[in-house]
Amino acid sequence: MRTVTVVGASLSGLYAARELRAQGFDGRLVIIGDEPHNPYDRPPLSKDFLTGRADEAQLALTDPEETGDLAAEWLLGTRARGLDARGRTVLLDDGRTVPTDGVVIATGASARRLPGEALTGVHTLRTLDDARTLREELTRGHREVVVIGGGFIGAETASSCASLGHTVTVVEAAPLPLVPPLGAEMAAVCATLHRRGGAELITGVGVADLRGTTAVTGVELSDGRILPADLVIVGIGATPNTAWLDGSTLALHDGVLCDDGCVAALPQVVAVGDVARVGGSRMEHWTSATEQPRVAVANLLAGRTAETVRSVPYFWSDQYGVRIQFAGRRRDGDTVRITEGGLDDGAPAEGGFLALYERAGLTTAVLSVDRPRPFMRARRELAREEGRVASGTV
Ligand SMILES: Cc1cc2nc3c(=O)[nH]c(=O)nc-3n(C[C@H](O)[C@H](O)[C@H](O)COP(=O)(O)OP(=O)(O)OC[C@H]3O[C@@H](n4cnc5c(N)ncnc54)[C@H](O)[C@@H]3O)c2cc1C
Repeated sequence: MRTVTVVGASLSGLYAARELRAQGFDGRLVIIGDEPHNPYDRPPLSKDFLTGRADEAQLALTDPEETGDLAAEWLLGTRARGLDARGRTVLLDDGRTVPTDGVVIATGASARRLPGEALTGVHTLRTLDDARTLREELTRGHREVVVIGGGFIGAETASSCASLGHTVTVVEAAPLPLVPPLGAEMAAVCATLHRRGGAELITGVGVADLRGTTAVTGVELSDGRILPADLVIVGIGATPNTAWLDGSTLALHDGVLCDDGCVAALPQVVAVGDVARVGGSRMEHWTSATEQPRVAVANLLAGRTAETVRSVPYFWSDQYGVRIQFAGRRRDGDTVRITEGGLDDGAPAEGGFLALYERAGLTTAVLSVDRPRPFMRARRELAREEGRVASGTV
């Protein structure tokens, strides 16, 4: 391969570029990113960056020395708008084209939006620019904040706003937030963190409308209640950025469909990170975005699927002063057993807890609240167990 083009200049795109060089690719490397910024880390955007404990310099994922070593052509502030049917030319928004032999798709996901978001004071949180604007608003005096969506981004943002002294209400349409990732039992435990952290949580009711003429003044709920608000943060999930691939011959369905080795419908095209549906599942976790590129690049350079992604899914979340960590593949019906620490009136007790999800005598997943060391041990054991199951020795 003489030219490889990485589309998406963020976490998984940068890791793919590093892997290309580490695995011996010495040809032309082009990295296309529609944001004007050098690659930066998103997790702090809803946490320490929003509260002012971290500044922009601390978000940087790379430095001039490394970018020099990568010897790549960076086309930042440039959107890819298409990939030709054979996957050999990337078309750019500004009319230029990049002929290429291989493509790494690393275009991530975008925050889902609500109708009516044109009102000032209504925000989503996905990019550095989103976080800059929101951070500035949060420093302009007391705010009545309504967070729509109780998922991880919603919960972390609510926690950051509450820690800055704002009045915070979280609205979640489901009876409990975080049930899909954690299951109902542990979701109920984590939901108590809102109350403990000084935020109100309203569940089981949707949002009917956003009130206001130019600036938002309130959120109308589907049961008719109106919550006063001068700042609304919409955290209702993310959509994979695949629109630019419409018209290519790649298979797209809630992400770029790939085999277990991140290889898309054309062998010289791989996909990684939040945009990639690898072997049937699409992760929106930092760790998957950093682990998939090694395998994807090996397969891209081999021209076939020589390796598959085998890691156990993992994510963390920091909210209301606690760290939640989860690894594994839980399914509805798994039993949950707290093996260390415990609960206090349904909430995590002082010192947190470790919980194992189990099915047919096997551990399927592990959850920790503020128990990082035993969590790491359990996570390693989980990986060993999965390895034994995959090799048929269990
Ligand atoms: C606020 C926030 C907090 C998070 N916290 C956690 C956490 O605590 N723990 C955890 O495990 N994960 C967390 N995540 C998730 C984690 O950050 C993502 O999984 C990770 O960023 C995915 O990396 P990516 O490179 O695949 O996608 P992205 O980071 O989305 O990057 C994709 C890049 O491609 C660009 N792009 C899109 N389309 C085009 C195009 N057509 N042409 C050129 N460029 C394009 C995008 O603008 C973007 O710069 C968080 C995410 C957010 C937003």
